[in-house]
Amino acid sequence: MRLAPAALLLLLATASAAQTLPRDTVAIPDTAWLEIHIVDVGQGDAIWIRTWDDGVPGNGRFDGRNITIDGGPNGSDGSNSFLKYIRERARPDTRFDAVIVSHPHDDHYPGALGVLRHYEVCNYYDGDTPNGSRFNQFLGTVRAERCNGQPIQLHRGRANFGTPDWGSELRAELLWGAPIDPTGMGSGGTLINNGSLVIKLTYGTQSFLFMGDAEGKERDDPPGTPRYAEARLLSDSVTESRLKSTVLKIAHHGSETSSTLPFIRAVDPEFLVVSSGREAYSGTFLPDRSTLQRYCTHNPQIRIYRTDQNDAAEGRSAATDNDGDHIVIRTNGKRTEIRALSADQPWMASACIP
Ligand SMILES: [Zn+2]
Repeated sequence: MRLAPAALLLLLATASAAQTLPRDTVAIPDTAWLEIHIVDVGQGDAIWIRTWDDGVPGNGRFDGRNITIDGGPNGSDGSNSFLKYIRERARPDTRFDAVIVSHPHDDHYPGALGVLRHYEVCNYYDGDTPNGSRFNQFLGTVRAERCNGQPIQLHRGRANFGTPDWGSELRAELLWGAPIDPTGMGSGGTLINNGSLVIKLTYGTQSFLFMGDAEGKERDDPPGTPRYAEARLLSDSVTESRLKSTVLKIAHHGSETSSTLPFIRAVDPEFLVVSSGREAYSGTFLPDRSTLQRYCTHNPQIRIYRTDQNDAAEGRSAATDNDGDHIVIRTNGKRTEIRALSADQPWMASACIP
C-alpha cells in the first residue's frame, strides 16, 4: 500500500517525537515510588530524597539515587538527628549523588557533615555565598570528599548548577539562587536567605518545590505585594510559570517574611510541608500562624504537615524539639501520599489547621 504524502509525514513526525521525548515523560511504573523525607531536626531544614531502583544498572533511569538538601543544625555525629535517621534506613554502602546546601546558615548546612563523614558523596551544590570561618571549615570537609576514587564534583553558584542527572525519570530545575544582584535584596541574614537555592523536582505529573529560606517581604509589610526573592521569581515569566507544584516545602520555616499572596496563588500547592522547631526569634516561634492562614484561606483543602507537630503542647524546647516529627512523602508520578509522624507515632492531617 502506498501512503499518501500527508500520512507519511504524520508517521515521520510520530517517530521523531518518540525519540525526543522530554525527560519527564519517561513511563513510570506504579510501583516506582520516589521518596522525600523531611527529617525532624528541630529548627532547621534536612531533606533526603531517594529515587526508585529498578535493579538494572546503567540504563540511565530508576537507579536508586540519593540526594540531600541541607542537614539541620547539628554537625557532631552524636547530636545529628539527620544522620541518625539516614543510618537507620539506608544501606551502609549508600552513595549520595548530591549534597545540596540551600544557603550557609547554621540551621541548614552543619548536619550535612554527617553525610560527608559516613557516606561517599559525588557532587556538592551551593550558591557560593561566603559566611565566615565555620562555613569555610565545612567547605574544607566538602573539598576533601571522594567518590568512587575521584574527587567530589563542586557545583558552586547558580551558573554552575547545570542539569543534574538523577535519572531520566526525574526532572530537576534550579529556579533561583545565589549569586544574586543584591539590589533590593536586603542585607545581612536577609540577603543570604534571599540567595537560597530554589529547586523544583518533577516526577510524572507530581512536582515538589523546595524554597530554602528565600523571602518575600519584611515582617510588617502587607502580604499582597511581593519583594525579595519571591518578587524575582514572579517577575520572570519562565520561573513564574514553573512555580505551580503539588507539594511546597514552605520558605523560611513558615515565617511571616515569606509566602506573599501572589506567590501562594502561583504555587497553589495541595500539600504544605513546614520544617521548624522551638527556637524563639525575638520571642516569635516559626511558623507564623498568619503565614499558614494565608494558605488555608487560598485553599481550605490544603493539608499542612509540620516537623514541630505538637511540640508546643508537648512543652518541647529548642533542645528537645527534634522528637521524631518526620514527614515521609512518596509519589509514583501519578499521585502523592504523605505519612507524618508526631513523636514517632503516626499522625493524620485532617483539615487545614494553621
Ligand atoms: Zn533557616
